[in-house]
Amino acid sequence: MTLIRSLISCGIVLFVSQTNGAQITEERTSVPAHLSGYTTQSSSPEREWEKKFQDGILRENLRDNVRRMSARPHHVGSPYDKDNAEWILAKFKDWGFDAHIETFQVLFPTPKERVVELVQPTQFRARLQEPPVPGDPTSNQTAEQLPTYNAYSIDGDVTAPLVYVNYGSREDYEQLDRLGISVKGAIVIARYGENWRGTKPKVAGEHGAIGCIIYSDPKDDGFYQGDDYPKGGWRPKEGVQRGSVMDTDYPGDPLTPGVGATADAKRLPVAEAKTITKIPVLPISWGDALPLLSALAGPVAPEKWRGALPVTYHVGPGPAKVHLRVSSNWDLKPVNDVIATLRGSEALDQWVIRGNHFDAWVNGADDPLSGMSAVLEEARMLSELHKQGWNPKRTIIYCAWDGEEPGLLGSTEWVETHGEELQKHAVAYINSDSNGRGFFRASGSHDLEKLINDVAREINDPEKNIPVWQRARLSRIANAKNQEDRAEIRKRSELAIGALGDGSDYASFLDHAGISALNIGYGGENDADSYHSIYDDFNWYTHFVDTDFAYGRALAQTGGTTVMRLADADVIPFEYAGMADTIGKYVTELEKQLKEKQDEITERNLELKEGLFTAVADPRKTSVPPPHETTPPYMNFAPLKNGVEAIKRSAERYESAVAKAQADGAPVLSAQALDSLNKDLLNIQRTFLTERGLPERPWFKHQVYAPGAYTGYGAKPIAAVREYMDEKKWAEAEAQVPAVAKVLEDVAAAIDKAADDLRSVSGR
Ligand SMILES: [Zn+2]
Repeated sequence: MTLIRSLISCGIVLFVSQTNGAQITEERTSVPAHLSGYTTQSSSPEREWEKKFQDGILRENLRDNVRRMSARPHHVGSPYDKDNAEWILAKFKDWGFDAHIETFQVLFPTPKERVVELVQPTQFRARLQEPPVPGDPTSNQTAEQLPTYNAYSIDGDVTAPLVYVNYGSREDYEQLDRLGISVKGAIVIARYGENWRGTKPKVAGEHGAIGCIIYSDPKDDGFYQGDDYPKGGWRPKEGVQRGSVMDTDYPGDPLTPGVGATADAKRLPVAEAKTITKIPVLPISWGDALPLLSALAGPVAPEKWRGALPVTYHVGPGPAKVHLRVSSNWDLKPVNDVIATLRGSEALDQWVIRGNHFDAWVNGADDPLSGMSAVLEEARMLSELHKQGWNPKRTIIYCAWDGEEPGLLGSTEWVETHGEELQKHAVAYINSDSNGRGFFRASGSHDLEKLINDVAREINDPEKNIPVWQRARLSRIANAKNQEDRAEIRKRSELAIGALGDGSDYASFLDHAGISALNIGYGGENDADSYHSIYDDFNWYTHFVDTDFAYGRALAQTGGTTVMRLADADVIPFEYAGMADTIGKYVTELEKQLKEKQDEITERNLELKEGLFTAVADPRKTSVPPPHETTPPYMNFAPLKNGVEAIKRSAERYESAVAKAQADGAPVLSAQALDSLNKDLLNIQRTFLTERGLPERPWFKHQVYAPGAYTGYGAKPIAAVREYMDEKKWAEAEAQVPAVAKVLEDVAAAIDKAADDLRSVSGR
């Protein structure tokens, strides 16, 4: 189209808000004169369509969607997973989307043999089976249920003394060293929680263990928290958390790192896939864990290590001796992604992408269908608006991912296959996953922080009748650690969003392809947890979680409004001052981490010299003093700080270019000028990537956002530097600083380019 569009035509127009200073709450929750990225003129039809959209979201549909898709188990490769894919495809087609299924062939191991047995001092064979619950109509679909296991455990058959390792974190092994206990040649038993499950066998293997058992302690998600299922919603005695333990070198198919797992893709031999565990691992229930833990002797576990079982927690090793056998069918299985497109009317080569996965470990009413049902309801309502005359400027792509649970398989293979075109066209990717009652939550790339704040200000909390933004903010104040944190929340005009790790399908978009991303949902008031068990089903969800789908409706309203806002904006509403502020905080955290380590090690070395550890230890108990360590040297973070300052300056230039455009009165931006400005904006997030990626994990290209090698789902901002610091490799950490700083300078230059382009077209 060559139509001249009036970007700034009447009176007060500001398409990027400049409210970074403090204002009072009342002002911030009131509706601004225009939307970010819009003119006053384009704001009002947008608002009307969004309102219509929000009003049209129906809870009955959400309920029906969850009921339909959770009716049978539907893990990767199962008949009902395929059935769901086809049902979702038919829905999108019905609604007028241009939709298809894209299939990949991925390595997905399913259990063949599973044994956990106590062989000494007494004998006990673990049941490894979740029993059906009377009154729960899907819990008895035993034939179709995937048995309890951890996907991507290596095959193994080991017998060894048992050691209890708490959550199995690196710190827990330091504590074991102090107790004089080694796990070399042992099988460890760790409880679920605190860290990501894949960390447990990884760290155990690094310390010489030959097998790993993970159990669900009732203190974390069972009867200690509340009544267990079916009386309440908490994990029952025999409930087991399945889950992937795929290592974090790269997500997606282990056999095709970096490329799409298409039928003819070149594949690694299974033995060369880096992301399969080094030692065998199986998950068990607390019912199965109790006899094992009861049979342990050795020192009593440190107080923080004790769970809620009615035994004295001992660490071992032995006399409990355990036999662990795991083997899998190492087959290729199809994953079927459903991709549905609603073509834009003007900027059709700019894509706004929205997604959620639909595969589950078993019936998966909560994980993932509570989110997937909302995404479908959004798509239905968008198509409804489309019929009524709403035409999004940009192209909208709805994605229903398969194979998320084993390792983000469907989304990763899709992004790897379409990487080049995505980098050219993708505006942003908006993800959701499980959804529940409670508070609005968002994480993502910080160029979208303001946008998601704006949207959350307009969504109503269904149970409190206040904006979800306001409720989230007040809950953060209520839960803040100290006065400083409370002051920070009150001062900031936007609610800070968290950084993304790799807990769901956004990972490849942001970390590998440099596409701005958000993950959104509601939660925090679920008096229930049956994560990755057969009890996460329709009956359980509708009794104990979002029973009337009020928060499912809020999620659909939030997700769909975000999509519309991005799809219709004149100028894509990215914001960079807040982004610079957040990256600045990450750099401060690095400095703080170094200082704390220096203080901690200096103090400990002094205590060693004083003979403190030997003097205070109970001579009747084993206690090993910690090793002497070299105090970390000072590091030069100045290049990073300069990079952050450069981004801050560029962000200001961009905002003032916006302000100037406003002050100039009524300049006219051609469609072409708008298009080129928006393309500049898309390029900014891509600039965070480097070709060589993170030093030890080259698949991860983004230099600010990445999951940690030992945190899995959790994020480790500026991982190139931080991960070496975590490993106390100070010189290696410092060596990474210049390259990351260069990326920050490049990002600043990319923002400058957008500012310059805007000045040149509007400054006449
Ligand atoms: Zn999920």
